[in-house]
Amino acid sequence: MQVASRIRQIPPSATLALNAKANQLKAQGVDIVNFGVGEPDFETPDNIREAAIRAIKEGFTRYTPVGGIPELKEAIIQKFQADYGLAYQPSEILVSCGGKHGLYNLFQILFEPGDEVVIPCPFWVSYVPMAMLAEAVPVLIPTRQESGFKLTAAELKARLTPRTKALVLNSPSNPTGGVYTRKELEDLGQVVLEHGLYVISDDIYDKILFDGAKFVNIAMLDPELKARTFVLNGVSKTYAMTGWRIGYLAGAAAGIAAATNLQSQSTSNPSSISQKAAVEALKGPQEAVAAMVAEFAWRRDDILKRTLEIPGVTSTKPGGAFYLFPNFSAYYGKLKPAPGQSNSQALADYLLTEARLAAVPGNEFGEDNCLRFSYATSRERIATGLSRIKEALEKLGK
Ligand SMILES: *Cc1c(COP(=O)(O)O)cnc(C)c1O
Repeated sequence: MQVASRIRQIPPSATLALNAKANQLKAQGVDIVNFGVGEPDFETPDNIREAAIRAIKEGFTRYTPVGGIPELKEAIIQKFQADYGLAYQPSEILVSCGGKHGLYNLFQILFEPGDEVVIPCPFWVSYVPMAMLAEAVPVLIPTRQESGFKLTAAELKARLTPRTKALVLNSPSNPTGGVYTRKELEDLGQVVLEHGLYVISDDIYDKILFDGAKFVNIAMLDPELKARTFVLNGVSKTYAMTGWRIGYLAGAAAGIAAATNLQSQSTSNPSSISQKAAVEALKGPQEAVAAMVAEFAWRRDDILKRTLEIPGVTSTKPGGAFYLFPNFSAYYGKLKPAPGQSNSQALADYLLTEARLAAVPGNEFGEDNCLRFSYATSRERIATGLSRIKEALEKLGK
């Protein structure tokens, strides 16, 4: 069978390949420390699960409006208002089957073939394939570890062309945990307005923020920027609800109407039951979120300290999310990558066999000097994992 070229061009996920290998070892009884997973290790809070059970018992099990039930849109609007002082109308909100689906819809309605979308490196794995599926050209701009892997206004400006249509921002970032400051966003915002760009602001980690930092996105800075920004969020990460598949998009009504139309011809509404659960997540008690963030903050400090104790390894300090993205390039001289393999892939392979530990190679995120460690795992596993890495790297030598 000849699969459509549109799909053939999408690279297979190396993360999944690594995962498969890790699972294979696990099945053989090998004790693997898994730093690969990109989801909270907590349970969905009870009040949210109860709301879903209620929805089922009350028979809330049919099609809903394509773009989400009014009650959920209202809860989302309230969140934006209360948390960020951003005012939206129901016509400016779309609820989708996960944040990823919201982004997919947005990429589809935003780009003509050949339009350029700026994606700062390192990036979340799905932005590039989503751009390709929309026939847009991903313009990857490397950022520097010294600037916390954050794109500067000058770096953005240098790569703009008449075809540049949009900029992707993700703060706190997956994979780096980097958080943009208000000033950095103001500087980027100026370039955005000067060149009439759209902004895709992926705020999925807005609540997983450490050190008392206050969340800020580019839409909050100026009404003109708000008009040019599509904000993506969801309940997956904040409420440990990755399996429930509820995400939402906020932005200009014309774009939201188009994305809703696209959704009406593809998935229709997201699960009615999950929508009821999401209402409870957004409007119910938030104590579970605070407890989860406090635990992530403790682990961030611990894994960072242990990582920086390894000779030659450097890292930025994550301000949010639940990932560490350390630089292991000091050890790359000793690796023997297989043909076609990058250094970070070779190191991930080495750590898997030598340290019985899974981490995602940085080349997946467009930065081969680093590996991504998710610390959505217990304190004990973090301690075990890091001592294993230290030992394996000592054996390798610098
Ligand atoms: C997890 C994640 C998403 C979306 O997750 P969903 O489960 O689809 O809501 C979007 N962006 C980033 C950066 C993520 O890490």
